[in-house]
Amino acid sequence: MSIERPKSTHWADITADKIIRERGPKDHYTCASGITPSGTVHIGNFREIISVELVARALAQKGEKVRFIYSWDEYDVFRKVPKNMPRQELLETYLRKPITLVPDVLGNESSYARKNERDLEVLLPLVGIEPEYIYQAERYRSSRYASGIRTALENRDVIRRELDAHRTSPLADDWWPASVFCTACDRDTTKVTGWDGEWGLSYECECGNRETVDLRHTHAVKLPWRIDWPMRWKEEGVDFEPAGKDHHSEGGSFDTAKLTGKEVYGHEPPVTFQYDFIRIKGGAGKISSSSGEVVSLGDVLEVYQPEVVRYLFAGTRPNSEFAISFDLDVLKVYEDYDKCERTYFTKPETEKAMKNWEKQARIYELSQVREVPGAMPYQIQIRHLCNLLQINSGDIEAVMEYLGDISEDQVAKFRNRAECAWFWVKNYAPEDFRFSLRDPATPLPAMGENERNAVQALGKLIEDTMGTMPEKEWSNLVYDLMVEKGIESADFFTLVYKALIGKEKGPRLISFLHTIGKEKAAALLK
Ligand SMILES: [Zn+2]
Repeated sequence: MSIERPKSTHWADITADKIIRERGPKDHYTCASGITPSGTVHIGNFREIISVELVARALAQKGEKVRFIYSWDEYDVFRKVPKNMPRQELLETYLRKPITLVPDVLGNESSYARKNERDLEVLLPLVGIEPEYIYQAERYRSSRYASGIRTALENRDVIRRELDAHRTSPLADDWWPASVFCTACDRDTTKVTGWDGEWGLSYECECGNRETVDLRHTHAVKLPWRIDWPMRWKEEGVDFEPAGKDHHSEGGSFDTAKLTGKEVYGHEPPVTFQYDFIRIKGGAGKISSSSGEVVSLGDVLEVYQPEVVRYLFAGTRPNSEFAISFDLDVLKVYEDYDKCERTYFTKPETEKAMKNWEKQARIYELSQVREVPGAMPYQIQIRHLCNLLQINSGDIEAVMEYLGDISEDQVAKFRNRAECAWFWVKNYAPEDFRFSLRDPATPLPAMGENERNAVQALGKLIEDTMGTMPEKEWSNLVYDLMVEKGIESADFFTLVYKALIGKEKGPRLISFLHTIGKEKAAALLK
């Protein structure tokens, strides 16, 4: 009798079902995400992107066609010069202009916005995310949204009522649902002065410029965020878009966008959920991000393999806060992922076991960057890998040679894990986790005659017998030797660690000696 896999209870699958149910049958479903690239896109922002990708993937696996769009809102105004940026005075001259006009003072991209966009665009495919990017500056400047803007102007009073419902003081009488970047000075230091009821919008700017622009031929007019959002839902036919806590608060931009979308643009609000914040644990003052205190996807990928990054997000419900660790918990995260992988490749035999299996299996499937492997991948315990790397001073080739059982198709993933592990050891691992082998050409550290004798006897024992019997059995010989030399085990271990790594403590001694290997270990204790 074969046991059937139960229906998935994973949040991505549940959301996908909800989208199909609420939006009805469609040729394709549009899933959206987006951000203003006014600074480095941090790992908290990434949570939105990957949440959408997981839902889009779940929809596709149900046989639906999916369009996954990512909107770069780079026609937003440059409000504040980030503190960590160089050339502050130069950047200040760009305040109130669209971000897309701000120069890239860190590199050679066409703008500051483009730099932030590119930094993320090159990393996303590494974690299996390839959305269709929509560049809002280009959209606005080519007047693509002319009718959307006109619709807002026509519904000025409706929108005003919707926004006022959540404001402590009502919008001014001369408020218009549009903002203008002055065509003379590029700033939004403007005031709309009138609308001709069709395509003509008049404004005046603090710089003295006044003119009437035609919505169909101007790059100057933009909708304020709360109106821009529902206008674009309609434009792209958005079926699903999650949002952070800030937008999902009572009377927040999601609430008003829902209303405006429905009443002004005739678009049913997309299915949504709220995602929570990400905390960072460990790595204080060491995160090397070019953006200072902000942790980017790039920083996380230096420590975690792409599938482990996906696992962190796929394994947590979007509405619960969690921490991305750079401290010793990194090891635990890798161990959890490996365990999940072993579970996936161990088929359950009872219905009850199947239920538990399904949860882990679905998380594992969604954690894969692309296809799910057909057979159990090569596994190496992360702690063991860190030790091997330290014994070999970070030489990954030497570690692979030592292990000797990594097949051609397993090399790429192994190398990636080893690079992450070594980066973590060097940059974030706690001091007492780190070690390097003593140079065997230097003399043993100073110690008493009897102690030196005992250490050297261990060297001899290693040379003669280590590796010829199971570790546990061999450890008995080491204990016998300590008794024979009359040294307490705690004292003896300290001496041996000093001789091996110049520290008083280290990884569990017997297996550590085996990991170092007979030749090297014996040489260090002679
Ligand atoms: Zn101006």
